[in-house]
Amino acid sequence: MRHFDYQSGDLHAEQVPLSRIAAEVGTPVYVYSSATLERHYRVFADSFEGLDTLVAYSVKANSNIAVLQTLAQLGAGADVVSGGELARALIAGIPGERIVFSGVGKTRAEMSAALDANIHVFNVESLPELHALNAVALSKGVQAPVAFRVNPDVSAGGHEKISTGKKENKFGIGWSRAEAAYAEAAALPGIEIVGVDVHIGSQIDALAPFEAAIRKVVGLIGRLRDQGHRIHLFDIGGGLGIPYGGNSRTPPLPADYGALVRRLTRDLDVQMVFEPGRMIAGNSGVLLSEVLYVKEGEDRHFLIIDAAMNDLLRPALYDAWHDVEPVHAPSPDAASQAYDIVGPICESGDTFAKARDLPPLSAGDLIVFHSAGAYGAAQSSQYNTRPLVPEVMVRGDAYRVIRERPTIADMLKTERLPDWPD
Ligand SMILES: *Cc1c(COP(=O)(O)O)cnc(C)c1O
Repeated sequence: MRHFDYQSGDLHAEQVPLSRIAAEVGTPVYVYSSATLERHYRVFADSFEGLDTLVAYSVKANSNIAVLQTLAQLGAGADVVSGGELARALIAGIPGERIVFSGVGKTRAEMSAALDANIHVFNVESLPELHALNAVALSKGVQAPVAFRVNPDVSAGGHEKISTGKKENKFGIGWSRAEAAYAEAAALPGIEIVGVDVHIGSQIDALAPFEAAIRKVVGLIGRLRDQGHRIHLFDIGGGLGIPYGGNSRTPPLPADYGALVRRLTRDLDVQMVFEPGRMIAGNSGVLLSEVLYVKEGEDRHFLIIDAAMNDLLRPALYDAWHDVEPVHAPSPDAASQAYDIVGPICESGDTFAKARDLPPLSAGDLIVFHSAGAYGAAQSSQYNTRPLVPEVMVRGDAYRVIRERPTIADMLKTERLPDWPD
């Protein structure tokens, strides 16, 4: 079922009319459905029922602490990529033993904080990083649990900016160097080898790339065990795509993904770790915005709205498609009109959609961008000194503001006019 749907002619998030949120919180604003978040987590987790698994939600997709807490209460772990995300996960109630730490550039301070939190595993991406982690762990008199992120040189399809599993990408240990890396790690007293990690990309809309990567890693795990390493964890990363509408392909169902993983890892005797982000959060949120002006161009109609690329970067960054709907349902006989939907920022890239067919709209009307719950608010900025977009979470017929819109004074609070000596 959809948790963003029309009820008596007005688009609702669960039981709350979006027009009410717009009136009370203002626009632009992100609105999340807690029911959708919970359902997506459960659908994903249920597809691995009976297996030894850790579902470590990828915090970077949507890092609001209320989102993390909602998932933590269902038993989710967290995949973090910075000390800031680690702090968010801990504040939201995710225990260290359910936290995995990914990323190519962990600092020593971040490693230290993660060791203090007793995290489940560090996904290590290079030998220099391994040696830094070894030194930090030794300075604390502990051992750091490590899985190397290996780069299986598999093409995941999709946009080049979110493909990560090819040898030309910056991610992971090159496939031909993996076994030597494990041998080097085994000799370090501050390191405990626990597993193998891969993450081949994002918005993956077919099972074949996952199958190719899993097969390669299963082979690697066998070789590593033959070489005497204790491998009891296999982190397969995130990346399962979601339907965005438009002409994007329909991604595989979590149940089919689950069946594939089961089939390929049978008798492997490992804990499987998953790092889904988009699949959990993507369709749990909309960006709600108001039409400021309808501008007649030479050959097109522009819908100038109060949201901009600083609030939702995906169209500008990845040429991403988001379905757009008016909050007030159009009358069935309204002829549609093609609009270029643009924001107020001084860049031509500040364009959400071109020639999009919508019912006729005027200034003051509300629209939503669907599937904006992942990589939406998390990528927002204050470019053009626009206040960071607020976030709202809905549960049934209630809603709460889970990130406030800063005032201009809030935004300027950390800046200083230098008091140079004369
Ligand atoms: C971004 C990322 C994820 C999550 O990817 P999704 O496509 O949102 O599922 C998981 N693991 C790592 C290492 C990532 O960088």
